[in-house]
Amino acid sequence: MYEQGVIRPPSEAQSLLVRVTRNCPWNQCLFCPAYKGTKFSRRTVEEVKTDIDNMAKEYKNHTNMIKSAFLQDADSLVLKTADILEILHYIKEKFPALERVTTYARSTTLKRKTVEEFKQLKEAGLIRIHAGMESGSETVLKMIKKGITPEDIIEGGTKVVAAGISLSEYIMPGVGGRTLSKEHAIETARLLNVVKPDFIRVRTFALHPQSPMQKMVLEGTLVPMTDEEIIAEIRLLVSNLDEMHSYFSCGDYSPNLLMQVDGYLDEKKAYMLSELDKFLALTPQQQKVYSFIRRSSSMHYPLEIVYDKEVIQKVMPEIERLEKGDPEGFYRYIATLMSYMIPQPQTDTDWDS
Ligand code: SF4
Repeated sequence: MYEQGVIRPPSEAQSLLVRVTRNCPWNQCLFCPAYKGTKFSRRTVEEVKTDIDNMAKEYKNHTNMIKSAFLQDADSLVLKTADILEILHYIKEKFPALERVTTYARSTTLKRKTVEEFKQLKEAGLIRIHAGMESGSETVLKMIKKGITPEDIIEGGTKVVAAGISLSEYIMPGVGGRTLSKEHAIETARLLNVVKPDFIRVRTFALHPQSPMQKMVLEGTLVPMTDEEIIAEIRLLVSNLDEMHSYFSCGDYSPNLLMQVDGYLDEKKAYMLSELDKFLALTPQQQKVYSFIRRSSSMHYPLEIVYDKEVIQKVMPEIERLEKGDPEGFYRYIATLMSYMIPQPQTDTDWDS
């Protein structure tokens, strides 16, 4: 028997999941359902080693099949560097074919480690760190209770990059609402241009019904954005990003409307802007039809699908039905579909408790 947490990045689907802490030490981000109602705790090196022993027993003669491992949960690097090194060495001892280890970490945690510590961690096999910055705007970060500042993002991120560890920064278009959209896009691009992470992973904001952000919507302090507005925000962000060797990725997360906006900025920025512009140039009716089709499945669809009159004739009655007697009915439906696409809380406990 061994413990496993509930979350890992999509790119770690084949990885051995090694739980070194439980849940999230911050756990206050208003948009995040993942660990609400749970308590954070550190695991001892001995506990983690026992788990690794049990995993090795389970794999018996097939431990060489394991090429990658992911350290869970939300902020594994809060452990002492010496403890993480011991765990990394032990995974490698039990799974000798291991080629890479990755983990999640918060910017405040990254900031507390030195470049030298990161170099030691890389030497021991930690080759990538996934960090959720969400926004570069101080106002947005405060509003969503992210618990980090733009300075934390820059300091923590640049140390990781300086040590030669691959850095994935996660950003959240739409989370600032309509009022902060422009600032959110421009400040996020500004910070990313400084940090130059290897990956910029787009996670379009979806409002969970239990989130305290629902209350903000009802009070009018957060104005939810439509797909068209979010695409315009992403366009502003991409246009402000340097043509650096960072991979801008919408393709690994199905709640992103235009999953084809995906590629290295120094190779595909013009293509990505043209896809965003193509969507923005559609008629309002075509945009709604495209949103409806994309949100109803996790499949990629080319934008050209809405040039087909038969497709329009098939989908428009559904949209008209949603809008009958409620001009916001279509947008409400899309928001509901999106709320099902994000991780659900692990308990029924109130988020605020
Ligand atoms: S977004 Fe990350 S840091 Fe924030 S509560 Fe969720 S897991 Fe914790």
